[in-house]
Amino acid sequence: MGRVLILGAGGVGGVVTHKCAQVPEVFSEILLASRTKSKCDKIASELSRPIKTAQVDADNVGDLVRLIKDFRPELVINVALPYQDLTIMDACLETGVHYLDTANYEPLDTAKFEYKWQWAYQEKFAKAGLMATLGCGFDPGVTNIFTAYLQKKHFDHIETIDILDANGGDHGYPFATNFNPEINIREVTAKGKYYAYGAWHETPPLSVHHTFNFEGIGPKEIYLMYHEELESLAKNIKGLKRARFWMTFSQNYLSHLKALENVGMTRIDPIEFNGQKIVPLQFLKAILPDPASLGPRTKGKTNIGVIAQGTKDGKYKVAYIKNICDHETCWSEVKSQAISYTTGVPAVVGAIMMMKKIWMKPGVFNVEELDPVPFLEVLSKMGLPWDVAELPAMPPVLA
Ligand code: NDP
Repeated sequence: MGRVLILGAGGVGGVVTHKCAQVPEVFSEILLASRTKSKCDKIASELSRPIKTAQVDADNVGDLVRLIKDFRPELVINVALPYQDLTIMDACLETGVHYLDTANYEPLDTAKFEYKWQWAYQEKFAKAGLMATLGCGFDPGVTNIFTAYLQKKHFDHIETIDILDANGGDHGYPFATNFNPEINIREVTAKGKYYAYGAWHETPPLSVHHTFNFEGIGPKEIYLMYHEELESLAKNIKGLKRARFWMTFSQNYLSHLKALENVGMTRIDPIEFNGQKIVPLQFLKAILPDPASLGPRTKGKTNIGVIAQGTKDGKYKVAYIKNICDHETCWSEVKSQAISYTTGVPAVVGAIMMMKKIWMKPGVFNVEELDPVPFLEVLSKMGLPWDVAELPAMPPVLA
């Protein structure tokens, strides 16, 4: 039993708050704090048990420290934006509180995410006797834990992994993003990158693609992208020869994105407009549908998993581990679409692991470094069941 502070009242923050509220035996008191307090209050009004809410500027360490000292949580769940990771980690260190997030730090003025900034906190957290769990959403998060589970239970040696993220959901808008538009578009417009034989290889954005048939969704075009879990998996899964990440996009989404890119709307450098500076991508975010509003409109399923090939008892083997999640079921449970749901539920399961001291050691950890078995047991019970199957061979498009 303990107090938890949730930072960020967006799509993911809503799911995290709903799910923490469902487990009073672990989270005895909840404080949801964000930049706009009215968003926290709206989420609080949907719950069957009372929680506290507050306004906070998570870019400001002093503000965070005051809030944390006042509420005295055991753990901070950071589901604000990646730009706030370091200020929140600093505040946790200053107040002696454990930390968990779902996305790695990214500087506001450079569309480049890397773990180096957060890994640099390793010694500080270790010395303080505190734990920081990084990237505990779905991808990163469950995809890392799926890989760790395959490594532990199904392989002696994993040689390659392909992470496949499919969203078969339809929200009916001509163009919208399923999570924060600014973060989403920065990620999608970046160069593709994959790991092979000890080196990183870059590809032009969305230039490598194939058709893949997803259970529960059907055939979809998958695009090779760089995704942050590749960096930690390449480091932590010993002997890995190749790691790639694939995501589905509809032709309609890509055509809109291309047009927005061509006219400069995805730029992240400030421009002068009517006497003030604006960042085109931030302006675009302001006029696009709020991801949190997609929930009641989205129909269809997500299917996210990992295909690994390697050896077990000297024999070649291919295994596919995945979760399929239904947008409408998520809406009826916690008033969210599946993208926020599949991110928020693993964050809460990671938080349960930490609160119950099942995952608890001083330092900064990526989730594949922690025991996957108890996490995956609780994940199924909390709404994200998964299955693992042996495949006769690698699907030809991935071979
Ligand atoms: P949203 O934009 O919907 O929500 C972000 C929330 O953080 C908003 O409520 C926002 O406040 C708040 N916020 C932003 N800046 C500050 C600040 N300086 N101080 C206090 N609060 C602030 O994003 P999502 O919910 O879609 O995403 C949340 C996080 O989850 C992101 O880091 C995203 O990258 C990550 N994510 C991870 C995934 C995974 O699988 N690992 C998948 C999807 C998302 P306001 O409402 O006022 O704007």
